[in-house]
Amino acid sequence: MSTVTSETIDVTLGERSYPVWIGRGLLDDHIRWRGALRGRHVLVISNHTVAPLYLERLSRGLDGLKWSSFLLDDGEAHKTFANVGLALDALATLGATRDACVIALGGGVVGDLAGFTAACWMRGIDFIQMPTTLLSMVDSSVGGKTGVNLPAGKNLVGAFHQPRAVIADIGTLDSLPEREYRAGLAEVIKGAAIGDAPFFAWLEAHADALRRRDETTLVQAIATKVRYKAGVVARDETEQGERALLNLGHTFGHALETAGHYTTLLHGEGVAVGMLLAARLSERLGMSTPADTTRLEQLLQSVNLPTRVPSGFDPDQLLALMRLDKKNTAGTLRLILWRGIGHAEIVSGVNENDVLAVLRDATK
Ligand code: NAD
Ligand code: MG
Repeated sequence: MSTVTSETIDVTLGERSYPVWIGRGLLDDHIRWRGALRGRHVLVISNHTVAPLYLERLSRGLDGLKWSSFLLDDGEAHKTFANVGLALDALATLGATRDACVIALGGGVVGDLAGFTAACWMRGIDFIQMPTTLLSMVDSSVGGKTGVNLPAGKNLVGAFHQPRAVIADIGTLDSLPEREYRAGLAEVIKGAAIGDAPFFAWLEAHADALRRRDETTLVQAIATKVRYKAGVVARDETEQGERALLNLGHTFGHALETAGHYTTLLHGEGVAVGMLLAARLSERLGMSTPADTTRLEQLLQSVNLPTRVPSGFDPDQLLALMRLDKKNTAGTLRLILWRGIGHAEIVSGVNENDVLAVLRDATK
């Protein structure tokens, strides 16, 4: 195996602790990840885009085991309860016992659905995350949130179920489309913006290298974000407090995604614009300075992420969508804002008029 640079991060959760391995060629490092398999049965869940690229390499490591694969059609629309049912049927057909393992090979859609399937089969079996998008490497594969969408809304059904290991083979990013790559960078920048000012400054200094996908820089960026998220998850696994900070930019971002019918903006792009709107609102509320907003805007721009609300979006509609996003009290919103780079904060009772003013300004 030719690992140029690699990192291991431990997610510390007592007996549910697990390693996150980051490096090139890990998919072929069968000896390493087979160590995380306890039983004889394996169901690989992937999709029709990723499986043709990487399933064969993975499957060479499954020699001697009883395994099969379940492939989703590509896209968020297939993160459904119906597909969980079919994946569970595949486990039944396999004759999977309590020591079976589900392997998720793909982006966040595959990972969320596979993890939830594993949480359901016999009330919870092992699963291993093999994320293949930057977003899933730095965000969804770590922390144990699993689930699917309902027609009524995204991620409405799910369970906390931690993986046994996360194997992030950054070689898989070679085939990742540019736009998806950038969307993943938004979630890296988010971590720094929330709680790690030195990392933010490091990202500013390495923005060019990241845009060029320089491998050493990329591994360092992924590892730093994962380490940050692992710390938050270790302190607040089930989101009783601090973990909510990871939603910086997300209430604005979800509204933008929804208003664009999930076709105008990718999630990470919505988060990029959303973080900037949260920064502007923080500034308006006297919590932060214009200089912090500018630094965020410039960092996003320097990795080619969008910083403007797409034209034609209506501020009143966006506000209405933001009201739906969380359980707010009448006339006020509960949002993640910041006191500047590295200092996000949960703020309740945000006046809707202030939110609307920021949205109006951004859609002028
Ligand atoms: P995704 O899984 O849809 O992947 C994006 C696209 O890239 C898809 O078309 C996919 O087929 C393709 N792809 C994946 N790997 C590839 C590769 N190596 N080469 C070429 N193409 C590849 O999207 P995503 O951004 O990875 O994840 C988004 C999902 O993650 C959403 O459902 C979101 O709700 C979820 N999410 C969950 C958490 C969590 O904590 N569980 C956190 C953030 C996001
Ligand atoms: Mg997100």
